[in-house]
Amino acid sequence: MALVNEHFLKLPDNYLFADIAKKVNVFKVSHPHANIISLGIGDVTRPLCPAVVEAMHKAVDEMATTKGFRGYGPEQGYQFLREAIVKNDFLPRGIHLDPSEIFVNDGAKSDTGNIQELVRWDNSIGVTDPIYPVYIDSNVMIGRAGEVTDGKWNNVTYLPCTAENNFIPQLPDRRVDIIYLCYPNNPTGTVISKEELRKWVNYALKNDTLIFYDAAYEAYIQEPDIPHSIYEIKGARKVAIEFHSYSKTAGFTGVRCGYTVVPKELTASTLEGERIALNQLWYRRQCTKFNGTSYISQRAAEAIYTPEGKEQVRETIAYYMDNARTMRHTLTSLGLEVFGGENAPYIWLKVPNGESSWRFFEQMLYNAHVVCTPGVGFGPSGEGYVRLTAFGSHEDCAEAMMRLKKWI
Ligand code: PLP
Repeated sequence: MALVNEHFLKLPDNYLFADIAKKVNVFKVSHPHANIISLGIGDVTRPLCPAVVEAMHKAVDEMATTKGFRGYGPEQGYQFLREAIVKNDFLPRGIHLDPSEIFVNDGAKSDTGNIQELVRWDNSIGVTDPIYPVYIDSNVMIGRAGEVTDGKWNNVTYLPCTAENNFIPQLPDRRVDIIYLCYPNNPTGTVISKEELRKWVNYALKNDTLIFYDAAYEAYIQEPDIPHSIYEIKGARKVAIEFHSYSKTAGFTGVRCGYTVVPKELTASTLEGERIALNQLWYRRQCTKFNGTSYISQRAAEAIYTPEGKEQVRETIAYYMDNARTMRHTLTSLGLEVFGGENAPYIWLKVPNGESSWRFFEQMLYNAHVVCTPGVGFGPSGEGYVRLTAFGSHEDCAEAMMRLKKWI
């Protein structure tokens, strides 16, 4: 008899966005003619930039010839892309990485979910709260999160990030083995300063803690002093794995490509105290469970690093950040408390009058026909907030803001 992994049964029935879709569908049935604008799900809408499209066409043409055809590629990614990453994403920031420390993947979701396989099931974990749900759910699946009561997992240390602490998480008051950090943050759109990030690296060095640092939105940083990578902080290579994604940087949510950095210096301990290099372990894991990202996607990603690619990607990001500015401006002028949206494509809105996230979500849907994401779906400290995304068109964004003005 095959016994099921019962940890899966502890997960909430539906993924947050499936719940939202269900509620929006109910609304559609009773309001078939309503023109709904979604500022909810974090998917991009602008087309791929010309440099990427050209590179993809070229790669397809190569694959159509006997000489240029490629089958399985290296599990860790093609050298051409790993070299471009090292040279463009890290060297200009004074970070020296070797291509063997880069693992190209099919987007950051897989690796942020899978990375926890590298550590024993009984490690303790800490997360900033609210947070991208994949971090906790992937730990639930393996039994590391424990049991849930009142919306909290008993083996997870929650580090609240709310308006009250200016979205700066406090260091845990106990030793935690693994910490997930995400900056710029999804869902709050807030960022971390170098000084604050240094505190985390020092905490990790002191406590032998492993940091999983999700930098999926680093391309949206506008201010000069905000760190784009945790490796800008001295000592971070000894304690941190970092995740990058081309999804929001270059509209690759459908193309699928990203990468993970596992520095050679990073180690974790066996029960006997032997230090094991995680780079080797992750390489071994990927070779067993992953057959690489398509050649076409990797050529597409490489094109982002050409001068034209860089300029075109910047333009698209500026387009979305224009939306973020419009949203911040409108919502602030309505007297609402608004966070994020300055170095990230997310606006985190405090629900007025102490109402719940889901109640405000429904009111916005029924009164303005605009969809947001209830903050509580990202963790207990998200209650009382909703997330709005800047990934729509200028026209939809302007129309949504006009409707919110009328409604509020
Ligand atoms: N990390 C964060 C914080 C995200 O918000 C997302 C997607 O929304 C991802 C990772 C995964 O992105 P992808 O798998 O498309 O690279």
